[in-house]
Amino acid sequence: MTKPSFFDLTFDELKALLAEKGLTPFGATQMFDWVYKKWVFDPAQWTNVARATKEFVIEAFDFGMLPIVWSGLSKDGTRKFLVKLADGQTVETVAIPARERLTLCVSSQVGCAVGCTFCHTATQGLKRHLKPSEVVLQYMTIQKWLMDHVHADERLTNIVYMGQGEPLHNFENMKKATLIFMAERGLGLGQRRITLSTSGLVPAIEKLAEDFPPVNIALSLHSARNNVRTELMPINKVYDLERLFTAIKKIPLKAHRRITYEYLLIDGMNDTMEDVVALAALLNSKESKINLIPFNEFPGSKYKRPSEERIMWFLDQMIKRGFTVTIRTTKGSDILAACGQLKSEFDKLNLWDKKDGPVVIPSIASSVLQNLQSPQR
Ligand code: SAH
Ligand code: SF4
Repeated sequence: MTKPSFFDLTFDELKALLAEKGLTPFGATQMFDWVYKKWVFDPAQWTNVARATKEFVIEAFDFGMLPIVWSGLSKDGTRKFLVKLADGQTVETVAIPARERLTLCVSSQVGCAVGCTFCHTATQGLKRHLKPSEVVLQYMTIQKWLMDHVHADERLTNIVYMGQGEPLHNFENMKKATLIFMAERGLGLGQRRITLSTSGLVPAIEKLAEDFPPVNIALSLHSARNNVRTELMPINKVYDLERLFTAIKKIPLKAHRRITYEYLLIDGMNDTMEDVVALAALLNSKESKINLIPFNEFPGSKYKRPSEERIMWFLDQMIKRGFTVTIRTTKGSDILAACGQLKSEFDKLNLWDKKDGPVVIPSIASSVLQNLQSPQR
């Protein structure tokens, strides 16, 4: 039997556990310090921790990172990693540089059950939820890799829950991972550094204010018209725009904090004047920020990205109506960095060795990826 991961424990849980075992709870402070502040994962090296405490945690927990089975560097500096979980499943995690930030996009599930028709992850269905440790370890593994392979001072600054999966479908585990990310004794990431992106799972959104640490929220809106949104996101059949916005309006926003609305732009689907008018009518220009995401085509996708002119036109229309709008540039398109694409392509080509991960060597990987790459217009 494999041991549970140390990275499943919040600070309070570790403290309570030590107390329960008759060990000094201060050990939790020391251990969190070693792991999350000094990046020393081998208990044998924890010089100031009591021997009995060390013996207990060595016996009880696993301290391993996630094996990186593939990594790729894009021309724009985006680094994509495929990491392997204990049961052999893999998920992807992407480090995206932008100005002074280095943002890690983490996965919350293996696959996804929501089934959006534009999303590559959806084609895999939901395999399982990630455990809190599997989310925290994406961060720990990549941060350690960056320190070892790029520069000792290279630091991830932000986290977005925008990899594979619907984070609110995995509510409790993502909550725990978030507590570990934010704990002062742990990684100490401020709430403004973490953004949760959701497709609009209304019952979970209703629980956010009471039951989830206060992180930034990004809502994948993608259309302000119910019929179009339902076509893109089947979840809209159950939780339509009226129900969604009733729930969103109940999220208390701190001063100067706004919800970001993600709006995918798909050619001929949601990029017309009718869409502009509906979007402007639905959102309040003073309270909402819109992030336009030109659709990232992938092999086999049924939608197209609009032309650059169309994208700029849409942007302009929203700015004219008083909205704060940004455009997400496609990051890492030369390494298939969009949601779920890399893993699926490797799966499809059967480039995995059953035991040890992909049998591709990097040079083959890059030519495979070049061949698979969708044309970016
Ligand atoms: N499940 C959550 C978070 C993961 S998806 C959600 O849906 O919000 C993160 C973002 O990537 C979402 O806004 C999603 O709509 C977007 N996305 C998915 N497939 C895409 C594609 N092919 N091109 C561009 N963005 C995509
Ligand atoms: Fe799931 Fe998000 Fe992809 Fe929709 S866009 S299928 S919610 S990961």
